[in-house]
Amino acid sequence: MDLLKQRIKNDAVVKKGNVLKVDSFLNHQIDVRLYGEIGREFYRLFQNENVTKILTIEASGIGIACITAQAFGCIPVVFAKKSRSANISNDVYTSKVASFTHGVDYDIMVSKEYLNSGDRVLIIDDFLANGEAVKGLASLVSQAGAVLVGAGIVIEKGFQPGGKELRESGIRLESLAIVESMDAETGEIVFRD
Ligand code: 5GP
Repeated sequence: MDLLKQRIKNDAVVKKGNVLKVDSFLNHQIDVRLYGEIGREFYRLFQNENVTKILTIEASGIGIACITAQAFGCIPVVFAKKSRSANISNDVYTSKVASFTHGVDYDIMVSKEYLNSGDRVLIIDDFLANGEAVKGLASLVSQAGAVLVGAGIVIEKGFQPGGKELRESGIRLESLAIVESMDAETGEIVFRD
């Protein structure tokens, strides 16, 4: 997606530790027009999959998932919660995820009410690094007996192992921009074609 790649080139900041900061348009301040384009692109890619539900993870996946759901005609969005809170039922599917950006393990959970065996689920997230978040979400889908149609990722860091592992496991993974390399010293970002 050229518009996205151009925006990353212009406005993303390469941090030490293989972290790409996109706070000015994706992760903190949000460019809603760009989000709209992202949602339409995910729709174009997955429109023939009879998607019934979009699954993401809090917090930064939620906005992208919602605008994507609009492109699909307002199908429901479910987001996995990262910690057990007082108002979530005990009847949940859970999975463990190692956080790339925070360096800790946490549990994610979705109420059993909101994922069913009849669902055809599209996973959406902002970044793919080691693939932990997508694997955790895919586990929730499989616990529910639902069908995983694929995963749509805004930015994949192709030099980290998640993308290769997920594709090899047979998951249909569509990333709108794949960063092949990035350099915190020079700020240079190279994309895979
Ligand atoms: P993974 O689970 O694939 O290792 O990492 C993906 C998750 O970590 C995403 O949900 C995203 O929030 C976060 N993440 C991973 N790498 C980056 C990055 O370079 N920049 C930002 N902003 N978030 C990242």
